[in-house]
Amino acid sequence: MRVLVDLDGVIHNFISAFSTVTGKTFYPRDWYFYRKYYTDYQFAKKLNDEPRVFMGPEYPGAVFLVHAIKRAGHEVVIVTDRPSHMFEVTRDWLIDKGLGDIPIKLSPDKTCIEADWAIDDRPENVRAMMNSPKHTTAYLLKRPWNAYTRGHGSNPDLNKVNSLDEFVRMLV
Ligand SMILES: [Mg+2]
Repeated sequence: MRVLVDLDGVIHNFISAFSTVTGKTFYPRDWYFYRKYYTDYQFAKKLNDEPRVFMGPEYPGAVFLVHAIKRAGHEVVIVTDRPSHMFEVTRDWLIDKGLGDIPIKLSPDKTCIEADWAIDDRPENVRAMMNSPKHTTAYLLKRPWNAYTRGHGSNPDLNKVNSLDEFVRMLV
């Protein structure tokens, strides 16, 4: 099966990288955590100008779990909502993790590939994949920024997992 895996907030600890780059500490409880210090424009500019926000640590065990999906015989595709000129930094990060052979698509639209299964931390993405013609079996990875706040609610219509491990165990 083809498994779509999101990067930021799932495999790559974007919050940690963003905190390091900005020298500020964030404890995100919603999608707009950066507004404590930055406007939407300033945040977008950082994503556009600063490759280091995409060069942070993996979540502990996350890379191992991606390898586990592959070892089980599935095809993994990374689809990540990053600026297109961040392709090299994204690829180099994956090469460094021994995942250089995984196809990468930089796109805000997670339905841009036909996936059988998917995991993402953005509720809107999970919903779009579920409702896509492929009816992807998509799961929301619960994170502090998508689990508690009113804006994202509890998303009762979505499949959810508490950990990447929980998702991978369904596949292997
Ligand atoms: Mg994400």
